[in-house]
Amino acid sequence: MAQSTQFQAPDLSDERILRIVAGIRPCRHGGLRLEAQQLGSKTLIHNYGHGGCGITLSMGTAIAAADLLEQCSEADAQIAILGAGVVGLTTARELSLRGRKVTIYAEKSGTETLSALAGALFLPVGIETEHPDIGHERFLNILTDSKHALDQLDQARYGIQDLPVYEPAFAADSEFLFTNGTIAPPTDLDLLPIPGPPRSGRTFNATFIHTHRFLNTLIEDLANAGVEIQSRSFTDRQELEHLQEPTIVNCLALGSRSLFDDQSLYPARGILVHMEPQDLGYIIHDGYKYMFPREDALVLGGCFDEGVWEDTPDELIADEILAHHRRFFGLS
Ligand SMILES: Cc1cc2nc3c(=O)[nH]c(=O)nc-3n(C[C@H](O)[C@H](O)[C@H](O)COP(=O)(O)OP(=O)(O)OC[C@H]3O[C@@H](n4cnc5c(N)ncnc54)[C@H](O)[C@@H]3O)c2cc1C
Repeated sequence: MAQSTQFQAPDLSDERILRIVAGIRPCRHGGLRLEAQQLGSKTLIHNYGHGGCGITLSMGTAIAAADLLEQCSEADAQIAILGAGVVGLTTARELSLRGRKVTIYAEKSGTETLSALAGALFLPVGIETEHPDIGHERFLNILTDSKHALDQLDQARYGIQDLPVYEPAFAADSEFLFTNGTIAPPTDLDLLPIPGPPRSGRTFNATFIHTHRFLNTLIEDLANAGVEIQSRSFTDRQELEHLQEPTIVNCLALGSRSLFDDQSLYPARGILVHMEPQDLGYIIHDGYKYMFPREDALVLGGCFDEGVWEDTPDELIADEILAHHRRFFGLS
């Protein structure tokens, strides 16, 4: 039996609540769309459908999209990236590092996007991977590439940190998370070293990404590399013909549903309660009921509501989330 020190309980009092936020995860039947297509005179590479783990996969899908692009685009072709969430920004970074001239076009960028809502824990959940075209092996390669690329970054500048995760015994089974080596295997504990009613469970170390810092640093590095982000909203794919770049990478996430008529995209709503930041040094993970100590907010999750497009923060669900975490820590 392994046991470690007792951690501090969070302060979950009403006065510490900052805001309630809601966002729609860009899920896709069949999983990621990473493929090339000819659209009139343009070569188009799709990179979307990251569901509940877009921060986790972003660096890996950026590499996969750049590899794909190199197979079907002239070496000196200028590149347009559509979208400036985590997927667009990491793809722009990868292509810029490979010497490409890149311009990003997006309605919103960085911390204005859905990507800024994410915790974010490096965990490949909330995504479909079983489609034969996607293949489990390709998914695991992307995951491995992503972890490797994250490890190469300046951890402090990009807001990347290793934190212990504690899962109560009744948490959803997720043994597959530990099979490909990107997350070290868990250790079973008879007693979790966290405040609240005594409970057994397990612990593992995981990579945690302070999303705002991550997105802001990506944008800073892209600006230094001469990558411009232009504010632009697309309503019809014919508009893409007018872009000056011959090669386009589509990182529009849910925006791809109407623009590229991809009905496989579907929503999974998440609601989070942001409390004042608290440097607790650990994560609680119990499926979508999680607690992440982000530097700008203590993030309390949550939910994964498949099929729900409504993204206004729901007070009743937020109350349930708060009540759950207060019970968990014996605070109510
Ligand atoms: C509550 C919640 C918690 C999450 N937690 C985690 C986590 O812990 N770990 C993790 O890895 N992932 C997590 N995720 C998932 C992650 O946030 C997403 O998978 C990821 O942000 C998707 O990134 P993206 O760049 O594809 O999409 P987005 O961030 O949505 O970016 C899309 C971009 O396209 C632009 N765009 C769209 N349509 C148009 C248009 N028509 N014209 C012009 N621009 C357009 C947008 O403005 C934006 O720039 C979470 C998600 C939610 C909602």
